[in-house]
Amino acid sequence: MRILVTGGAGYIGSHTALELLAKQHDICILDNFRNSSPECLRRIEKLSGHHFSQITADVSDSEAMEGHLDAYRPDAVIHFAGLKAVGESAEKPVEYYDVNVSGTINLLRAMDRSGCRKIIFSSSATVYGRPEYLPFDENHPCAPENVYGRTKHMAEKIIQDWQGARSDSSAVLLRYFNPVGAHDSAEIGEDPTDTPNNLLPYVSQVAIGRRDRVSIFGADYETRDGTGMRDYIHVVDLARAHVAALELADRHQGTETINVGTGAGHTVREMIDAFSRASGRDIPYVVTDRRPGDIATSIADPSKAYKLMGWKAERTLDEMCTSTWAWQQRNPNGFRGPGHSNPTKNDVRQG
Ligand code: NAD
Ligand code: UDP
Repeated sequence: MRILVTGGAGYIGSHTALELLAKQHDICILDNFRNSSPECLRRIEKLSGHHFSQITADVSDSEAMEGHLDAYRPDAVIHFAGLKAVGESAEKPVEYYDVNVSGTINLLRAMDRSGCRKIIFSSSATVYGRPEYLPFDENHPCAPENVYGRTKHMAEKIIQDWQGARSDSSAVLLRYFNPVGAHDSAEIGEDPTDTPNNLLPYVSQVAIGRRDRVSIFGADYETRDGTGMRDYIHVVDLARAHVAALELADRHQGTETINVGTGAGHTVREMIDAFSRASGRDIPYVVTDRRPGDIATSIADPSKAYKLMGWKAERTLDEMCTSTWAWQQRNPNGFRGPGHSNPTKNDVRQG
């Protein structure tokens, strides 16, 4: 299939691109490198041994999106491009709605023009909000508590309505839980440009000595040890869920919303211990106040993913930590080494 991967230079998109190339799909990565580096695309080409089309563009630019889809004519789109920082979304709500919601509308309009009828969308467990019961299944009510979560929920609804109006179309809305880990090669991984918001990248930077200690945001939750519990999923498992979703979209018309998690939870303390074992380093921490808006526990019921797509997570917590550590050690500054530069907007290279 010809697959347009928006945001394909980012953390989850880059791992998915490698899985797609391994399955001999023809891909085109469209990204504006707002939170990623062209170096990542060079590494994907090196690791996969395949060249692919690359477009530097902003999903907020409606006209450019139409032009790019007209030119590439994808059979399907995997839509990763978006802004994802919960805290920043409260400070810059209009920008978040613009990129995450208007960007999705621009993409759907461009898909209509080019005749593309299949979309896989990156949604988030954040759309559920506070749990009424656990684990979260896909029928759990959605009441997102932050701007980021609302942008994802709105985009889900827009895609669902787009699909509902086109009987020959399909949409798979993947609700990710907590992606962590890196590729086995240690050549691609998560590369936060700023202070990491998420737990594991922060822990990893403490282990390598870039930061002094981890702040545990609250130890008085109703969990095994009082610290927050999440469903961490290895990014390679998550990437493979996209391949499975694409196969589902290819054989099935309609919209499916699917959780992507493991079904198991780990606390902050357990994650720090596991990372300490994997890295062989002490990881100093301090317990601080709860982070506003956090919930005690978030765990997926991943059974629908297995039922509909035959997909389930396979990689262990230790593999999540050792791969993160290998990536961190090999790339202490992420993709930003000497010679790094970002191409200009709408610079197109067809591979
Ligand atoms: P990421 O920031 O690493 O990747 C997103 C990519 O989109 C980046 O390469 C960025 O440069 C690009 N991008 C941002 N704005 C753009 C724009 N206007 N036009 C074109 N490209 C743009 O993030 P990720 O962790 O790989 O997440 C991918 C998707 O999955 C996002 O939509 C995110 O909201 C969603 N998601 C992520 C998580 C997570 O914990 N990582 C959890 C749930 C959902
Ligand atoms: N967390 C923490 N310290 C940090 C970052 C996160 O204690 O520096 C906790 C957070 O309160 C939550 C868990 O780690 O219980 C996962 O947080 P993350 O931001 O990675 O994911 P999310 O909260 O979005 O699920």
